[in-house]
Amino acid sequence: MSMFKKMEISDTKSDKKPEGETEKVKCLIIGSGPAGYTAAIYAARANLNPVMYEGLEPGGQLTTTTDVENYPGYPEGVTGPEMMEDLKKQAGRFGTDIRPGIATASDLTASPFKITVDDSKIIEADALIIATGATAKYLGMESEQKYMGSGVSACATCDGFFYKNLDVAVVGGGDTAAEESLYLAGICKKVYLIIRKDHMRATKVMQERVMEKENIEVLFEHVTKEIVGEGGVVTGVILQNGKGEEVRKDISGFFVAIGHTPNSGIFKDYLETDEVGYIKTIPGTAKTNIEGVFACGDVMDPHYRQAVTAAGTGCMAAMDTERYLGTRKF
Ligand code: NDP
Repeated sequence: MSMFKKMEISDTKSDKKPEGETEKVKCLIIGSGPAGYTAAIYAARANLNPVMYEGLEPGGQLTTTTDVENYPGYPEGVTGPEMMEDLKKQAGRFGTDIRPGIATASDLTASPFKITVDDSKIIEADALIIATGATAKYLGMESEQKYMGSGVSACATCDGFFYKNLDVAVVGGGDTAAEESLYLAGICKKVYLIIRKDHMRATKVMQERVMEKENIEVLFEHVTKEIVGEGGVVTGVILQNGKGEEVRKDISGFFVAIGHTPNSGIFKDYLETDEVGYIKTIPGTAKTNIEGVFACGDVMDPHYRQAVTAAGTGCMAAMDTERYLGTRKF
């Protein structure tokens, strides 16, 4: 499973005044990744009549990946798009009203919560489930886009297995890059860790683990210039070292680990987040600091970021919503 992070909603607050109609719903779900669809399946089966807006990338990040081999229940694996199509059908089967549309603004001052869709329509929701995901940061090179899914990945846990006994590179100097390198070092022949500065930002203990690992070569003061390939797959990376010289490393996989951006921008005036923007939930629940607003999946999870964990928190969000709606009169 690859975790190519893409925006599911608009992440910037819109200044445009919505001019369109207003619609009242009981349960609104924003985002259509594994968290959103699982929340929808549970909410629909609990007769909450959920309405879902799919977001910028219907199906979420998994629609940009190839094989998903680590989601339980698929012994032969499944493609990301197929899995999301299955989840969509399952959510639809129980009556979820799945609609195209991007959440562009929010007003969570009081219930019903107001969500503007496509800068035009306002949905008033008694309960809101936010499942808008997170976006992996990329270096922004054309070649990175070109080899996305055929050598370029933003998730070692998801795609590392495809590079068993091969040489790969990881870019980034934080804890994620350190973790990804260590994970890959257990699978791959050699891991080049590309760091732009002369030091790592990762915690000391992670740095030590990286340095101690025999098959990780840390390349300090190296900047990625180009990812190169042949026949549509990655074969190498061109770097520039601290002296300004070009260096080529032959690799089959290039893992970007330079951080993620949770898609929580339109809620930031109302919801508590950590310093990066991940929505804070009460541990063991999907509850946010606002009663009736729930968060699930990658938008509230800086640690695991897996389809199966997203689905798990989606289930929690729907169950918390059911209890919330059941104890109040609207
Ligand atoms: P960070 O923001 O901590 O680190 C990002 C890294 O990527 C930095 O080294 C940065 O370099 C580098 N970088 C950014 N942009 C570029 C670029 N364009 N080219 C090359 N390098 C670039 O992100 P992480 O995802 O690593 O971590 C996020 C948070 O999650 C942190 O607080 C971290 O501690 C935490 N975390 C904790 C884990 C754990 O406890 N096990 C595991 C994973 C994450 P530079 O330093 O030069 O800015």
